[in-house]
Amino acid sequence: MKMNSLIACHDCDLIQWVGPVPEGSAVRCSRCDAVLFQNKPNSLERSLALTLTSLILFVLANTFPFLGFKIGALVHETNLITGIHELYIQGNWPMATVVFLTTIAVPALQMICLLYVLIPLKMNRLPRKAKQVFRFILYMKPWGMVEVFMIGILVAYVKLAKMATIVPGIAAFAFMALVFVLTASMAAMDEHLIWGSIPYRAAGYPTRRNTADALLINCHICHLLCPTSSLNGREMICPRCGTPLHRRKPNSISRTWALVLGALIFYIPANVLPITVVTSLGHKEADTIISGVIYFLTSGSWPIALVIFAASICVPVLKLVSLSYLLISVQSKSKWRPEDRTRLYRITEVVGRWSMIDVFVVTILVALVNLGALATIDAGPAAVYFCAVVITTMFAAMSFDPRLIWDQMEDRNE
Ligand SMILES: [Zn+2]
Ligand SMILES: [Zn+2]
Repeated sequence: MKMNSLIACHDCDLIQWVGPVPEGSAVRCSRCDAVLFQNKPNSLERSLALTLTSLILFVLANTFPFLGFKIGALVHETNLITGIHELYIQGNWPMATVVFLTTIAVPALQMICLLYVLIPLKMNRLPRKAKQVFRFILYMKPWGMVEVFMIGILVAYVKLAKMATIVPGIAAFAFMALVFVLTASMAAMDEHLIWGSIPYRAAGYPTRRNTADALLINCHICHLLCPTSSLNGREMICPRCGTPLHRRKPNSISRTWALVLGALIFYIPANVLPITVVTSLGHKEADTIISGVIYFLTSGSWPIALVIFAASICVPVLKLVSLSYLLISVQSKSKWRPEDRTRLYRITEVVGRWSMIDVFVVTILVALVNLGALATIDAGPAAVYFCAVVITTMFAAMSFDPRLIWDQMEDRNE
């Protein structure tokens, strides 16, 4: 049984009292159904063990051969980093940077930072700068994409299976295991438990009972409810985690609109220009995202065609459409089905990263098919634009504040 305090819902800002929660259960917001708190049994021990295992698997995945590409007697071996290196050599450093950050740097930093926090906590000590490090872990969370990369490997595998034999190395198996263990370790981590162990100078709740004093702001990082009266008009900073406090994300609507429009502009070249250029015996052939989907359809791999179509074409469009709809509904002060609109926002936020599949497929193809005059695959100009679409839409979803949906509902009650 854990938790016995006031929590403000991160999606609709309703303040609720959360009593004792039995082990393994979760508490949901009574208004918008968001998960407010989960009691994860043995969270500290489990996340520590799983993070240690993932670190070992990560080292294996980065030191051993990853995939081999075999045509007849010709074998081309690659490592996890080969595709990134190859993209960099081809002058495509923006894409190389994005793939490096999402598949190597962020997962590595996530594991190291988690161990830095969890090991001392297990020994009942608090590491130095614990709040900064833990805040950093939470900021990095959406940008680690090992599971998306895994699907990218499967797609590339199917794509090349007819052309040559693909030999998975030790690193490929280690990477596959890493995906599951790292996901489990992030799921086992109990944010509330870790924040709860970080001491802070309590600002004290207001004693005078007027509304101006009783205003509370919910910290969106550590979920501490801070009374505004204790802040005396200074720049409001959360006393526990040090994040600047805002009642709502600043300029949420205009920032989200700008990012949605930016993504829409990038979306056009991403679909019109070629995403891969195959050179085989001096003959060049360019493929766009759509022609890749058609290739899988006509060659009988319709499940892969469906995955690419959903991830690369549907998800970005649906994301832009639903974010625009949410923005318009907030601007027109709509009171129509706020629960469903909040749910739509949550889906938009979660699915966005899966669009990276095609970027990863291109990276793997570039690494594997590098046989000099016989056959090479280069990343086309669309790949960079597509990367930009995914990143801009992710930032757009992050800058939208779902609590704006609920602000309209409160006006009615007053
Ligand atoms: Zn809620
Ligand atoms: Zn905080």
